[in-house]
Amino acid sequence: MSKKEELECSFCKRKKDETNLLIAGIDAHICDKCIEQAHGIVLEEIQNEKESSSSEFLVKKPIEIKDFLDQYIIGQDQAKKVMSVAVYNHYKRLLQKKTSKDNEVEIEKSNIIMVGETGTGKTLIARTIAKMLDVPFAIVDATVLTEAGYVGEDVETILTRLLQAADYKVDKAERGIVFIDEIDKIARKGDNPSITRDVSGEGVQQALLKLLEGTVVNVPPKGGRKHPDQKFVEVNTKDILFIAGGAFSGIDKVISKRLNMQAVGYSASISDDRIDDKNLLQYVIPSDLKNFGLIPEIIGRLPALTFLKPLDKKTLRSILTKPKNAIIKQYIRLFEMDGIEFKIDDKALDFIVDKAIEYKLGARGLRSLCEEVLTDAMFEMPSTGDEKLHVTKKYAQGKLTKSTVKKLKAVS
Ligand code: ADP
Repeated sequence: MSKKEELECSFCKRKKDETNLLIAGIDAHICDKCIEQAHGIVLEEIQNEKESSSSEFLVKKPIEIKDFLDQYIIGQDQAKKVMSVAVYNHYKRLLQKKTSKDNEVEIEKSNIIMVGETGTGKTLIARTIAKMLDVPFAIVDATVLTEAGYVGEDVETILTRLLQAADYKVDKAERGIVFIDEIDKIARKGDNPSITRDVSGEGVQQALLKLLEGTVVNVPPKGGRKHPDQKFVEVNTKDILFIAGGAFSGIDKVISKRLNMQAVGYSASISDDRIDDKNLLQYVIPSDLKNFGLIPEIIGRLPALTFLKPLDKKTLRSILTKPKNAIIKQYIRLFEMDGIEFKIDDKALDFIVDKAIEYKLGARGLRSLCEEVLTDAMFEMPSTGDEKLHVTKKYAQGKLTKSTVKKLKAVS
């Protein structure tokens, strides 16, 4: 037998001719199959390490969390501050539970509620926090939720989304973040509840309450009632961070009424503090949410309350260019990939912002306006071989005719 034929993998003992490749080391050999397997093990280990180190969130202090948010979200300092503290406390609580002794003070969950007009960055803040923590994130719209048995989605389907976002890994989902949008839409309508059954209102709030508190829920992994034979997965919600958001339109009247009443009662102290009645949301307190129609138990389970300011011209202008993944930065990159140098004048940007304000399109409209301005160029230029695109105000004006902007308004 020649020496060559004796070669074998030192790990699995496959002979050289049973392998595709046999690599020689100093005193050993390894075959392609064992390399692949070992590589898999290495990847898994790295992943496990990553996951266990994600319990070291605490390394990030509230100021660091806010610094991270600052890279993506313009303004909204108060909301970012409240969120940073709530998230920090939430993960501190998780850590305490891991190491806690029985007699220790139990830290309660710090679910969050944000009040602010639509398009002011509520979802963006929640999404950015999830990105920073590298935890699964799900957005659900409270308006589609109904009490079990009614047309619509059961409250449990919230967790279906989270489970999907966690690649069906239950333990990952159990540490995720859920953003419940439009929570204001499930407020009890009017002051006289339940003469007729309030399908999408108080009943849903009651159902949500259990999730917010922390409970084990049987979750249909595929969601809905279309898959009646699917096996349910048990998900414990006690460590899931819930962030609720809503526009609460009309709540300014509730706030204003309360502030005026206080002014009568404690005229001296209140009249010293000037009330900024252009942005009453900044004075929101839990009892205002109750007067709006949320049940006290829900409010109690969303203890961190904060507000978002309406976006002014300066903020909208910054949103176009400043955040880490600002819209304009994205276009620069897109054109760059076709070898095109893209430049847009400040005046053109101001013009886009003016249109967003004039037609009340908000921050979301900025993107659609940019698309309208740039679609022709993005369509033609990859084929024409042009290397430069310079967008002036005049160019933008030419693309944003009244009818195009009106069309945007119709869809927004
Ligand atoms: P909301 O949840 O309050 O309705 P979103 O978070 O969905 O609003 O905001 C819509 C879009 O507007 C975001 O994706 C983002 O592009 C932009 N945006 C809104 N507010 C801000 C902000 N403060 N900073 C940066 N971008 C913002």
